[in-house]
Amino acid sequence: MVHAPSRPPEGAPPVRINLYSDTQTRPSQAMLASMMSAPTGDDQSGDDPTINALCDRMAALLGKEAAVFLPSGTMCNVIATLVHTRPGDEILAHRTAHILTSEGGAHGALGGVQITGLEGPNGLFDADAVRRAIRPRNRNAPPQTMLEVEQTANTGGGTVWPKAQLDEVAAVAHEQGWVTHMDGARLLNACVASGISASDMCASYDTAWLDFTKGLGAPLGAVLVGTSDFIGHAWRWKQRLGGAMRQGGVCAAACLYALDHNVDRLAEDHANAKALARGLKQIPGVEVTDPDTNLVYFDPTGAGLSSERLQAELRMRGILISLLGGRLRACTHLDVGSAMIDDALTAIREALARA
Ligand SMILES: *Cc1c(COP(=O)(O)O)cnc(C)c1O
Repeated sequence: MVHAPSRPPEGAPPVRINLYSDTQTRPSQAMLASMMSAPTGDDQSGDDPTINALCDRMAALLGKEAAVFLPSGTMCNVIATLVHTRPGDEILAHRTAHILTSEGGAHGALGGVQITGLEGPNGLFDADAVRRAIRPRNRNAPPQTMLEVEQTANTGGGTVWPKAQLDEVAAVAHEQGWVTHMDGARLLNACVASGISASDMCASYDTAWLDFTKGLGAPLGAVLVGTSDFIGHAWRWKQRLGGAMRQGGVCAAACLYALDHNVDRLAEDHANAKALARGLKQIPGVEVTDPDTNLVYFDPTGAGLSSERLQAELRMRGILISLLGGRLRACTHLDVGSAMIDDALTAIREALARA
């Protein structure tokens, strides 16, 4: 049974504060204007000038030879698996990784691979955890061929991998002859939070990608980068999966706009997340994970309402928030201003006080 997306409950007011996800940002008027004036060609023939400009810029930003524009981050991950592995191979990733929990089993269904989940706090693991997962190379064991990390670690708490730790786990992988792949859905959040450049962040990763529909606020699109050879193979899979996007320059223009206007401002989202976490911590009984970036995970159970109940109470007050693994997740983004954070805190305090 596949569940349909939930509808607003009976009598719920319109949403005035959307903390559900940074995927729900709306393209601004200026972003839409940049899309309307974008020169376009045919992506499938490789001659859409706006897509080509975006790919050149992304390859340079992430410090790799080449790039390919894709409809979504999920397709970036799936294509990376399809190029880097063969059926029967094993991928190592954190137990909470998006490729393991949230891609519809695509890596098994389409790539025929198994993914083993590594343990570690906050969505991160260390070199020892990777070493402990190394299998003997014999006829029984699945060939291990790829290590994957998520920067930032989404369900880990929007955690920023320290660069040294990224390099250490990649070094173990490369010693073993494995490929390293970075899911950079929120890579620029990590860069803005740490002051480390995107190319340094993914220097020890063979392939990486960045999502434009998270905090960057574009309506669709993600860019996957790697060697020219890798991107050649990725393009074949893009074609096979139906991901070639004809006059897609209209969408690439939104991504270029986001790179020009929406990167530095991610710092505001991080400041808003920290303010929200500070406020939540002052409510007795609420357990809050300190946010590195724009995701605030908290559990209100100790303050008298389950996560589900508080989520429903907030929805009736026009506030949308997500529920992930039993905890609430508030996500700050370019449609959430600091006044909304104060407003949300007031509503949370009020709902808990009445409980
Ligand atoms: C959102 C997300 C994805 C998938 O990206 P889409 O563009 O939604 O397909 C992959 N990994 C992480 C960590 C994400 O947060």
